[in-house]
Amino acid sequence: MQPAYQLIYDKLFEHYGPQSWWPAETPFEMMIGSILVQNTNWRNVDKALIKLGPYFEPEIIDHFPIEDLAQLIRSSGFYNIKAKRIKAFMEWFRQYDYDTKRIKAINNTELRKALINIHGIGKETADVMLVYAFEKPIFVVDAYARRIFYRLGYNMPTSYDGFRKLVEKELPEELTLYNEFHALLVEHAKQFCRSKPICKECPLLDICDQRLELK
Ligand code: SF4
Repeated sequence: MQPAYQLIYDKLFEHYGPQSWWPAETPFEMMIGSILVQNTNWRNVDKALIKLGPYFEPEIIDHFPIEDLAQLIRSSGFYNIKAKRIKAFMEWFRQYDYDTKRIKAINNTELRKALINIHGIGKETADVMLVYAFEKPIFVVDAYARRIFYRLGYNMPTSYDGFRKLVEKELPEELTLYNEFHALLVEHAKQFCRSKPICKECPLLDICDQRLELK
């Protein structure tokens, strides 16, 4: 029998096709975007990214006065907090001369630990950076993944890493798969498995328990 998580992936991929994430021009833009998107939607992030556009070089952002940075990213919400987080991230990034290639050479576990140690970078933000900027095959556990897996009928661990490891145990260590899986789950949560789900035409209907209590 085909492993369960692979089956979810296959069905979503067949329905939505490749998502080719993350929506960013460079790994640096991706990483800043992943901090800006905390507790907000992508529309608000997009506005902030447009304002940041003329300054989008690591050295410039690193040396930008924090108050001015906060104003530029105002549309993303919690802008003073996020400006501090970006500054903390830049301090770490500077240690590698802002060179993502150098950082990619660090092994997954060590790099993940280093990212989580940066002020304001939680496990979810660290993991999206690991997948989309540093090309490490890791499963991102977000609220959408939790909602969809619960409704499908899986009793997943409540801890972030418990959930992540259980999925990773079953899937091959392929970057493309993890890159696409997170993007597909986000797309599915937006199109069908919304807070109020649209089950009738859902591509996962035949494998879903439709446990619809909010999770
Ligand atoms: S059938 Fe309904 S509850 Fe199940 S995954 Fe689809 S939209 Fe979500």
